[in-house]
Amino acid sequence: QAKLNGRQRLQWFDPQQERHQAALSRLVQRLETALANHELQLHYQPKVDLSSGRLIGAEALLRWQDPRRGMVPPGEFLPTIEQHPISITIGHWVIETALEQIERWHRQGLTLTVSVNISALQLQQPNFVASLRRHLARHPTLPTNGLELEILESAAIGDIQRAGEVIRECRALGVGVSLDDFGTGYAALEYLKYLPAERLKIDRTFIRDMLEDRGDQAIVKGIIGLAKAFDFRVIAEGVETEAQGCRLIELGCPEAQGFGIARPMPAAALLDWHHQWQPPISWRSARHS
Ligand code: C2E
Ligand code: MG
Ligand code: MG
Ligand code: MG
Repeated sequence: QAKLNGRQRLQWFDPQQERHQAALSRLVQRLETALANHELQLHYQPKVDLSSGRLIGAEALLRWQDPRRGMVPPGEFLPTIEQHPISITIGHWVIETALEQIERWHRQGLTLTVSVNISALQLQQPNFVASLRRHLARHPTLPTNGLELEILESAAIGDIQRAGEVIRECRALGVGVSLDDFGTGYAALEYLKYLPAERLKIDRTFIRDMLEDRGDQAIVKGIIGLAKAFDFRVIAEGVETEAQGCRLIELGCPEAQGFGIARPMPAAALLDWHHQWQPPISWRSARHS
């Protein structure tokens, strides 16, 4: 008893904890303003089929156009609010905004699968699937396979049974699921049997050094083999160079996204990008060996 009290008291008077709390409430306040003032935006990064260059989808990535600081990337504010309910509110905004954009592109003749990132806290919400269903109901002209979710491998491993159920229910709603940052979760691989996801997304840290680092290349190769064995599709993220794309084709990875193909861009820029995009010639002649 005494021990527990002592620990609680320590926590209560921890000045670092207090500073963190103060910083958190300031950030939450500014994000509430940001939501009200339409300072949040989604940028979209194309995903392509490497060999044909065909555009197969886009990932929606959150941006905050802060009047004081300019464009703020998600890594600078999402980690701080990851346990705070405002991240759920932002999550809803992201899904709703992506759905509107998918319908808009569809009306303009571009039918795309757009993926949105789902936080661990979002996934834990008991009403997550019900709320997703309500979002979809508001968008009756959404094309088939219009929406996909990206769930962090680490979040899925956190509660495999729940993740498995959510993924199954999402797929019943016609919403695909990818396991994001795959390979960084350090999990026993047998859990893959319980996750009916559609796709594995190879973490970009493995792609980055793949051509120089035999270990990283072995991991990439291993994930591609794993995907085949478990019947997942597989995509590489963080493809920055033509040579990385070639190697991925040779290793049998059909899909990719990365700065070497396109950076994330505002929705309005994507149609133009799509019209002018040509894959490197070397990708057309590369072969899965
Ligand atoms: P992620 O889902 O793994 O997204 C990929 C990140 O890698 C993006 O960073 C993207 O801009 C970056 N990237 C793509 N290609 C390359 C490349 O070739 N080289 C390099 N160096 N980086 C590349 P971004 O937009 O800063 O997002 C960072 C992370 O923040 C995302 O990682 C995701 O976990 C999270 N995030 C972004 N938007 C959302 C959102 O709407 N909701 C949630 N819950 N998380 C989000
Ligand atoms: Mg992602
Ligand atoms: Mg990722
Ligand atoms: Mg990541």
